[in-house]
Amino acid sequence: MTTSPAALLLLGRQHDLASERGVECPGDLPAASDPDLVQRAQAAREALGDRAFVLGHHYQRDEVIRFADVTGDSFKLARDAAARPGAEFVVFCGVHFMAESADILTADHQQVVLPDLAAGCSMADMAAIAQVEEAWEVLEDAGVAADVVPVSYMNSSAAIKGFTGRHGGTICTSSNARTALDWAFEQRPAGRGKVLFLPDQHLGRNTAVLQLGMSLGDCVVYDPHRPLGGLTPQQLRDARMILWRGHCSVHGRFTAANVAAVRERVPDVKVLVHPECRHDVVTAADLVGSTEFIIRTIEAAPPGTSWAVGTELNLVRRLAARHPDQQISFLEQTVCFCSTMNRIDLPHLVWAMESLAAGRVVNRITVDPDTAHWARIALDQMLALPG
Ligand code: SF4
Repeated sequence: MTTSPAALLLLGRQHDLASERGVECPGDLPAASDPDLVQRAQAAREALGDRAFVLGHHYQRDEVIRFADVTGDSFKLARDAAARPGAEFVVFCGVHFMAESADILTADHQQVVLPDLAAGCSMADMAAIAQVEEAWEVLEDAGVAADVVPVSYMNSSAAIKGFTGRHGGTICTSSNARTALDWAFEQRPAGRGKVLFLPDQHLGRNTAVLQLGMSLGDCVVYDPHRPLGGLTPQQLRDARMILWRGHCSVHGRFTAANVAAVRERVPDVKVLVHPECRHDVVTAADLVGSTEFIIRTIEAAPPGTSWAVGTELNLVRRLAARHPDQQISFLEQTVCFCSTMNRIDLPHLVWAMESLAAGRVVNRITVDPDTAHWARIALDQMLALPG
């Protein structure tokens, strides 16, 4: 039996309303997983068998993660999907740019499904392809485009990845951003190279300053909403890092004051944050690293240690549940879950899997062949990076 999506979405809407009111942050989400939905998800998953491969991003809800065949960050999940060519359907429990990357990296016969098309990413949306093409013209007019290598974070649309491939750049993740920047600067004569870093200014700045030893003055921020990006040609000529004015709406909300407050509150606490956080937060923290780094660090920590973690709340809560021998808290008391990641809830997953089991492919994500070609070149360049 397949229930209408409208009925299935009711519980999801209740979640959204609760989140909008702010009453559930950072506490529990309302219980959406009524017993029928769990049983239906199990039945649909069994009916699909090896024909489907369900991917769950680390920031997904528990009720969704429990049905994931693998969990990971966006790049690991796309690679996992590509390594399972026998799976006709890839059900991506994540956000839109991740499903696009999975479509680019998987074989033509594999169909990628995003259970809710509203699951986007505000950071990826901050760099529209028309804005980026216009920025490139600004760089050309300033006479610096020939010195610039684009480096785009995985958290970008397929169109931005395609732009990056067309202009000889590379994709990076939060794990390999330093290696990607090293590679990019090596592509131009020493002292002349510049990087256009898209779309997360914080990851670009944190990597350039903390890992490559640049100064904040080596970085400029290109604002697509201002004429010429808000920069003079001389500023563009002097800069080494041209940072796109984008940020994560979750990680961007942590502040240095949060770090100071938790140090007051919790004796001997270690502050562990993601590099999408602002520069002053990262410099005030004890440790900074990717989602996978955060998970590994907590797993390796001795019992009795105290952590304040600055990343998405679903993951922090799961880490706290998995490691009751440690004191793990969320860095900030009022930052919510990533609202777009949380669009994927059990009702949407049940609807997607039941539809597939009934022979209807819903919410398929496809990337046009030309964009996919160039995006693949940029992704392959990342895979060829050392380490
Ligand atoms: S956590 Fe931030 S970067 Fe990740 S999907 Fe949400 S808005 Fe985008």
